[in-house]
Amino acid sequence: MNRREALNWARRALFAQLNEDASLEGEILLKHVLKIDRTALFSSPDEDMTQAQLNELDKLIARRLEGEPSAYITGHKEFYGLDFVVDKRVLIPRPETEILVENAVSLTRSYKFTYIADIGTGCGCIAVSLSVKLIGACVYAVDVSRDAITVAKQNAARHGVKWINFLYGDLLQPLHEPVDIIVANLPYVKKSDLPVNGFEPVTALDGGEDGLDIIRKLIRQAPAKLNPYGCLLLEIGLGQAEAVELLLQKEYPSAKIQLFPDLAGIPRAAVMRLT
Ligand code: GLN
Repeated sequence: MNRREALNWARRALFAQLNEDASLEGEILLKHVLKIDRTALFSSPDEDMTQAQLNELDKLIARRLEGEPSAYITGHKEFYGLDFVVDKRVLIPRPETEILVENAVSLTRSYKFTYIADIGTGCGCIAVSLSVKLIGACVYAVDVSRDAITVAKQNAARHGVKWINFLYGDLLQPLHEPVDIIVANLPYVKKSDLPVNGFEPVTALDGGEDGLDIIRKLIRQAPAKLNPYGCLLLEIGLGQAEAVELLLQKEYPSAKIQLFPDLAGIPRAAVMRLT
């Protein structure tokens, strides 16, 4: 069997479960087995697969059909144009989180901010993306999971941003001094909506009864750790925009709050500016 035939085989095998994603995910798994990129794959589609490669592909397809995300199988996920290593110790970065990064980049530039905190950094995708993009910024990356910090440090090293300050602890607590901008993709999934037998760490998703337990806690801690001219950026879930706006307004009555939708039209980023 050659590479083209193997690709079709993988896609067909995945189709029943993944529908339109089967095509892309089949390609991701095949590239992983062959340890080649897209260009190499499509420039030599007639090259024969070895038996070992076919066996390996078969195993990966079986894992994917068991529900394991491709990002955990390959150990990689692209975010904001950068490659991040991921494993089951951290949440897999989602494309919608790039909305937070975009906003953080433009606010940091226009307000000339220096001190940035990424709270609940996970694999570090936000902190690393911001550090790559905003040379000279001082970035703190906080997580309550030591495992997550280990993965995030690995990603920082991969992208040559060794100056990120990694802090272990609960939300804003480990910050010694107030920062100019807080960016946070915290757990916001309602307990009742948590995936059953999911592969991702539940602590990275579980936001309690209404999904807002952790966001509420962060907003309460903010006045002590956010500079009076600063910004607070939160990723939120479906149906949470109004409640989050109210929470922010209660703590900061004169703040300006803006919501940014994802591609599905769901308000996904709440951006609060104090000036
Ligand atoms: N967007 C993620 C999901 O729906 C949730 C991420 C989070 O809780 N921060 O699985």
